[in-house]
Amino acid sequence: MGGMTRFHNTMGGKVEDFVPIEPGRVKLYTCGPTVYDYPHIGNWRAYVFEDLLKRFLLFRGFKVAHVMNITDVDDKTIRGAQAKGVGLDEYTKPFIEAFGRDRDTLAVLPADHYPRATAHIPEMVALVRMLLEKGFAYKKEGSVYFAIDKYPAYGRLSKINLEDRRPGARGDADEYEKESVHDFALWKAAKPREPFWETEIGPGRPGWHVECSAMSAKYLGTTFDIHCGGVDNIFPHHENEIAQSEAANGVQLAHYWLHCHHLVVDGEKMSKSKGNFYTLADILAKGYEPSEVRYLLLSTHYRRMLNFTFEALDQARTARQRMGNFLGELKDVAGPAGQTASVEPLIQAARAGFVAGLEDDLNIAEALAAVFTLIKNANPLLVRGEISKDGAAKLAAFFKEIDAVLAIKPSPAIAASGKIGAAGDPEKRLEAEVQARIEARQKARVEKDFARADAIRRELLDMGIVLEDTKDGVRWKKAGPPKP
Ligand code: AMP
Ligand code: ZN
Repeated sequence: MGGMTRFHNTMGGKVEDFVPIEPGRVKLYTCGPTVYDYPHIGNWRAYVFEDLLKRFLLFRGFKVAHVMNITDVDDKTIRGAQAKGVGLDEYTKPFIEAFGRDRDTLAVLPADHYPRATAHIPEMVALVRMLLEKGFAYKKEGSVYFAIDKYPAYGRLSKINLEDRRPGARGDADEYEKESVHDFALWKAAKPREPFWETEIGPGRPGWHVECSAMSAKYLGTTFDIHCGGVDNIFPHHENEIAQSEAANGVQLAHYWLHCHHLVVDGEKMSKSKGNFYTLADILAKGYEPSEVRYLLLSTHYRRMLNFTFEALDQARTARQRMGNFLGELKDVAGPAGQTASVEPLIQAARAGFVAGLEDDLNIAEALAAVFTLIKNANPLLVRGEISKDGAAKLAAFFKEIDAVLAIKPSPAIAASGKIGAAGDPEKRLEAEVQARIEARQKARVEKDFARADAIRRELLDMGIVLEDTKDGVRWKKAGPPKP
């Protein structure tokens, strides 16, 4: 044990030893939610992968400074707010709140900072001005564009074919395909009915990419250790972040780029039109536990595609319950019936396997296999009454230790009742279930699926819960006693 941690670096495309800039400290930037809708479980795959990375670094004794942006102004948020006829703030608020709620439900550690784009316009303007001054950007009809021809290093991260580049061609959209490598908007001129800021570079609003460049520099410095996101972020988002930041600052933006592969549902891209679009609330409303969802999201290696199915979720439930059952049996150990076996070698082997797996580019399958091998080897000893009370306590302590990384709380209560959740407190559990259904209903209404929204209201009624729609949102209360 005590080897070197290695990560696959998208920049360069191979697994490399991880050496932080400052010994013992890691500066981590992860691209956060674009708050134009409720986060879906694909987003949570990315955030749970990043949480596994962060928790493992903490477990290995690093101090981690973690920043995650909130994109609360971009093409999508503006379009959504316009369609609803409300301001940006009002539009994004429920999605930001849902993000925080889901994060806590999934035991994802909060970042140190969640900078919001709308609160950092001066920083973005300063960056754009620097790019203009250094000749990497130009103005056109009130907007400012990054001139990719002026930046020959463009394309290293995504290994894009620069032959396809169209010099002089410009694009205003935040998102575009690899096929159209072109000058991209740093600053977008104010348009009628769009929010804008009066600034030194004219009235307008930032492009999406410049937000991350400005905010990462503010909170982590111009060079930091690790930058994460899903593979869809590689091009154009991260490519453009690198171009902006490195052209402006003259130093490398991030030393390691880690990207998780996508989550798909039943082998297909998740989309509203296909009806395979799930939020966390949708899944909890079907009776699954947050820790089961977390287990599923983290148990596939981050660089492999994760195919979400309810069958896979049931398997995650079973795996987690196996740990819970084992812990439950440890609790029941009364004391040595005769000869006791030493559990130390089993624990040491499990710890070594767990750490070696995660050190190897977060090989979670190997890490979990080490844990299940421990259970498999300790079980016969348990059955024969060869584990002392002290041995049982040591085994339980080991599970607590690794749960600092996994955060799946394999509690014995699960095994006993087949149900867990808000730690056995029925009131809390009810609250969580009601909240999940209310969110699912809100989502159905946003999607104008009123039949579904009504069905959820009726389900809640069956549970004895009455909803009240007020102007401050949805309230709920328990129905009074049935009329005689
Ligand atoms: P967005 O809110 O679309 O900006 O995405 C937030 C994060 O979720 C980014 O890191 C994305 O790469 C990631 N993401 C989006 N969709 C998926 C998906 N289906 N699977 C995994 N990660 C995703
Ligand atoms: Zn970003």
